[in-house]
Amino acid sequence: MRILKQEIYFPIIIGVHFVFWAIDLYFYAGSFKEVSSDTLLFGELSNESWMNVHRILGEVFSSWVVTVFAFNFLMATRAKWVERIFGGLDKMYLIHRRSGVIAVFLLVAHFVVVPRDLTAFNPGKPLGFYAFVLILLGVVISAAPVFKKKIPYHRWINIHRLMGVFYVLGVVHGMMVNSLIKELSITRIYVFGMAFIGITAWVYRAFLFKLFNKKLAYKVVTVSDKGAGFTEIVMKPLAGGLNFLAGQFAFFTFPNISKKEQHPFTISSHPYFKELRITVKKLGDYTSDLADQVSVGDPVWVEGPYGHFSSSYIKEKDQVWIAGGIGITPFLSLINDVYTNKIRLIWCVSNKEEAVYQEELQKAKENDPDFDFQIWSSTDKGRLSLESLQLDNYHNKGFLLCGPEGLKKSIYKDLKNQGVTSDNIYDEEFAFR
Ligand SMILES: Cc1cc2nc3c(=O)[nH]c(=O)nc-3n(C[C@H](O)[C@H](O)[C@H](O)COP(=O)(O)OP(=O)(O)OC[C@H]3O[C@@H](n4cnc5c(N)ncnc54)[C@H](O)[C@@H]3O)c2cc1C
Repeated sequence: MRILKQEIYFPIIIGVHFVFWAIDLYFYAGSFKEVSSDTLLFGELSNESWMNVHRILGEVFSSWVVTVFAFNFLMATRAKWVERIFGGLDKMYLIHRRSGVIAVFLLVAHFVVVPRDLTAFNPGKPLGFYAFVLILLGVVISAAPVFKKKIPYHRWINIHRLMGVFYVLGVVHGMMVNSLIKELSITRIYVFGMAFIGITAWVYRAFLFKLFNKKLAYKVVTVSDKGAGFTEIVMKPLAGGLNFLAGQFAFFTFPNISKKEQHPFTISSHPYFKELRITVKKLGDYTSDLADQVSVGDPVWVEGPYGHFSSSYIKEKDQVWIAGGIGITPFLSLINDVYTNKIRLIWCVSNKEEAVYQEELQKAKENDPDFDFQIWSSTDKGRLSLESLQLDNYHNKGFLLCGPEGLKKSIYKDLKNQGVTSDNIYDEEFAFR
């Protein structure tokens, strides 16, 4: 299946709107009129036909906002079929994040341009204003780096979930006020249909998700401090175990630490084994608590699996894997899948002490002549560049990247300079917001 990347996702949304609006306006024979309206910046309109540019543009902007948010709520359901369309939950959340910001610009454009009917009071009008302010605040809190840093994730996500309520206010506003959309048959069905999908998706995510996505019960069997801030946790299923592919991740809840918080971690063991292994790097509050407080016998709840960073989604047999720090985790699982592939792994670490899985990688190398690896210590060798790898060629190879944003960006740039297309580059995001 073709994956919907953001490069095509946004043009599709824009294109579909243009087509629907164009057909509807071409055949529109109604009598919608601005009897007495004003616009925020463009003055008053009286006795103007529906054809005035403010009316059309203002409503095109609002119909985009409705659709973009509807898709965002759909993405938040974590439904497998939606994840498949976007090529993995991590990619999907990236588009979700960017779409939210774009929707806010469109919302501001709608607010500034659209004519406001002055003939009679309509409660839909103040409602629209409140929805506008709340959505604006909601997206700023969700996306601005300063809030992301200051607000702990579990509080942030609760605020973020309120976006659904603000969206409902916006849709009710759209249903109450006079508008051209309500007169245009295809656009009306499309926009209100999208609003219905968005609201249903939000209700499902907010109230029904837990009912349909039962978490699997596991028990911690070993906790090992690997050094360099890495903690390895192995757990066994109490009943049916998780059905996953090598390289995928899941959401883990450790109820002894918090019943409410769930965090994504890559499963660093192979599906062949019944036990699940995760390796956690101390980064913030939760990951530090895991390292310090989790003990053998503790319950764990697992929800998943998710992600497309897996052999099943990678077509090239000749692969170069580049991991940075904790980004080694999917590869620890994938090395057990390599029997048909030629693999070269480069694990970038700050110093040699951080290469805590060197022995495991060495064993994999001894067992498989097609697997080779190299530890790249930036203290000794500086930053990794593609050139330093001295690859025989750059084509017909799959490049798999997982690690810090800076490393991924610089390798991505090097690959592009060598003419490698995005179709041959696979990367995993280790952050959702
Ligand atoms: C697909 C994926 C796979 C990952 N695999 C691993 C792994 O194998 N090993 C590993 O050590 N880390 C992994 N991470 C990162 C790990 O989830 C975060 O480091 C951890 O959740 C940080 O929590 P914290 O409270 O300790 O840190 P904080 O400082 O509170 O958070 C650091 C950042 O982590 C993200 N984050 C925090 N809480 C959550 C949450 N509940 N859900 C989603 N994101 C959150 C936010 O972007 C936040 O800005 C993965 C992340 C993703 C998205």
